[in-house]
Formats: sequence, C-alpha cells, structure tokens
Amino acid sequence: MNGKPVHAAQSLFPVAGGCLQVGGIPLTRLAQRVGSTPFYAYDRALLSARVAQVRTHLPPGLALHYSMKANPMPALVQHMAGLVDGIDVASAGEMKVALDTGIDPARISFAGPGKRDAELVQSVAAGVVLNVESEHELEALARIGDTLGLAPRVALRVNPDFELKGSGMRMGGGAKPFGIDAEAVPALLARVGALGLDFEGLHIFSGSQSLKASAIVEAQANTIELGLRLAQYAPTPLRRLNIGGGFGIPYFPGEAALDLGPIGEHLAAWLPKFEAALPRAQLAIELGRYLVGEAGVYVARVIDRKVSRGQVFLVTDGGLHHHLAASGNFGQVIRKNYPVAIGNRMDAGDAGPASVVGPLCTPLDILADQMPLGHAEPGDLVVVFQSGAYGRSASPAAFLGHPEAAEVLV
Ligand SMILES: *Cc1c(COP(=O)(O)O)cnc(C)c1O
Repeated sequence: MNGKPVHAAQSLFPVAGGCLQVGGIPLTRLAQRVGSTPFYAYDRALLSARVAQVRTHLPPGLALHYSMKANPMPALVQHMAGLVDGIDVASAGEMKVALDTGIDPARISFAGPGKRDAELVQSVAAGVVLNVESEHELEALARIGDTLGLAPRVALRVNPDFELKGSGMRMGGGAKPFGIDAEAVPALLARVGALGLDFEGLHIFSGSQSLKASAIVEAQANTIELGLRLAQYAPTPLRRLNIGGGFGIPYFPGEAALDLGPIGEHLAAWLPKFEAALPRAQLAIELGRYLVGEAGVYVARVIDRKVSRGQVFLVTDGGLHHHLAASGNFGQVIRKNYPVAIGNRMDAGDAGPASVVGPLCTPLDILADQMPLGHAEPGDLVVVFQSGAYGRSASPAAFLGHPEAAEVLV
C-alpha cells in the first residue's frame, strides 16, 4: 500500500480530498490563483504559530529577532515585523524592506562584512543599529557620522574564540571574515568611546542550522560569558547583547526536530544573572531559518514523465534555478533529498522510486533523486517542503533564462 515516507514537515499542511492545503487553500486552486508555476507559498498561520511556539519556550524578557536573509519577501517580512522584537538585515536592500514595514529603525540591525560607504550612509541616515565588522568599518562610520551630523548607533560584531558544534554553517571561531576577533574587541570598544559613537552593544553569532539543543546551550553559555567579559570594556553601558541563534530544522531522513525545552530552561536560568550584571541591557537572539523554513513550500508542475532504462523521471518546470538548496548545491557535501510529495495526489500509494528533475541542461538540476513517490503525470504538482528559508532569494534565477518563481503569502 502506502510505503511513502512522510516527513514531519508535511503534517503541518492538512490534506483534503487527496490535495495538500496551504493557508487553507487546496494546492490546485492556489496554483490557479497564482496563475503560473513554479511558485513558493508561505503559510502565515504557520509563521505566527512558530513565533508563538518559540516565545512559549523562551523566557519573557528575551528579545526575538528575525534574520531576514532567510526569506526577504516583503509581505512575509511585514508579517514577521508584527511578531518579533527586531529585524536583522544584511544589506541596504534588505534594510529598505525592513524599514518599509514601519518597524522602529532602532529595532533594525545591519550585519555583514564589506558594507560599502553608500550603505553606511543610508544606515546612519535611517537610524538603524550597525553591527560593525572591522576597525576600518568603524572609522568609516565615524567619518560618515561627522559628515551627516548624526551619531551612528554602533554595536560591535565579535568573532568568538569558539564555534557552534555540529552546525551546518560555521560563522564564528578561528579565522573568519565575520566580526572582530574577540581579543581585539577591548581596544575597539575604547575607540568607539573616543569617537563619540552611540554605543548599542555586542553581537556574537557562532553558527547556523544546529539540531542539537546541547550544542546550542553550550554555545549560548560561552557567548553570554564572552559578552559579559567584553562588556567590562564598554564605553557606555550595553543596551543589547545579541547572542545569535543557529536553531536548525530537520531536512533529511533521520534528522529530528530541535528540542527547544533545554534551550529555554538554560536561558531562563541565565537571565537573572545577565540582568544583574548588565541592568540596562536586553538579551536577544536572532533566528532566520527556524522561524520561516517550515512554513514554506515550493511547487512545480510536471511537464513530462520519462522512463529511461527503467528509471522514472518527472521533468518539471522548476529546479535549481529557483531552489538551489533542494538541488543539493547550497552547502551540502553529500546530496540528500528534501521532503517531496505529489501535492494533488497525496493519498496515492507508493508508485516506486522516481527522480524529480528540472528543465535545465545540467545533471545538477535535481529536486528528488530516486525517491519513493506517488504516481505522477504531466500537469501534476510536485511539492518540496521545508522551503520557506534560503529558497528563492538564495538561487541563481538567471541561470538558463527561465521565468522566475512567483511567491505568495497565504
Ligand atoms: C545568516 C545569519 C543568521 C540566520 O541564520 P539562520 O540559520 O537562518 O537562523 C543570523 N545571524 C547572522 C549574523 C547571520 O549571518
């Protein structure tokens, strides 16, 4: 009968009459409403539910930021702006989207190496917090502040002397282009004071996509301790310590969802000590993927069904040009299948393994490799789950000149 594996993420989306529902709308109807395939669809109720779930586990008083590089769709960022305490951006382009939501600019922070002078001018004029990544950037910012007659709001991004163990992408520890080496921070904090900049606090981000609560707890303890140590050198009292995030979501067979319980308990235990040491400061975490990744699906239509030497290939109108991560070419070492299903035939039994490929003339254009799927015909809708983060905006849309994917928030 039905031998298809069902990924936990799939159960977030109800099925009625064999058809997956997104935002309460049957997928076939949603495809008609969008007017074209492929498209990304994000479910706003799932986004809200995820933020609420995080908040029930984390202690009140801890600020929750959305890291919008995970998904910069303006309507989605607008939705998130009403749910979180801050938005973290990584370019002036993202900053514009964040400002357009109407959120207080002081609750926007801008991190990223290699900020150009024009971006620094825009950020200072906007009044957002800049997470400064180098001495060069700090000096440039001070000059720009003088020219504009404004005091830039400055936090220092620290490259810690440890990393988030077992994380998919390490962004701290050792030699890194991100942030200021922890040992160089005291001297730069003195410089912030000498330059008369408006000091906000510290930002310490050690990694991404971790599914191990114990590793996150350990990194957070190290991060808070480092923050408290460095705070002794601050020119004025810290207003914020951003300890990063790194919460992962399960993509592949054998991966289990992150347990927020121990993380919340650990932060709740820390908070009184933190507040005693830095009474003016707020402790913040920043999450991208964890808040939005599971709320989104990518939908492509089957154009052709081919059998080549006994293997079934479902050729769709979507592929790596829209969804690089699902093709396995965005940071994966060994390619594994994202959870995939035939969205308009959810009740169909396992029809044996099939590969889902895209229209690009490259063997890299794979959405599913020899995966147990229901039978599918041209016209059917292939759904890739876990697609709400690092999807459309993290894909090479211009490669081969096919149309771009639409995006809807439902
Ligand atoms: C990318 C990034 C994030 C978000 O990471 P997720 O894995 O999506 O949560 C947060 N902070 C910084 C500084 C980043 O560069």
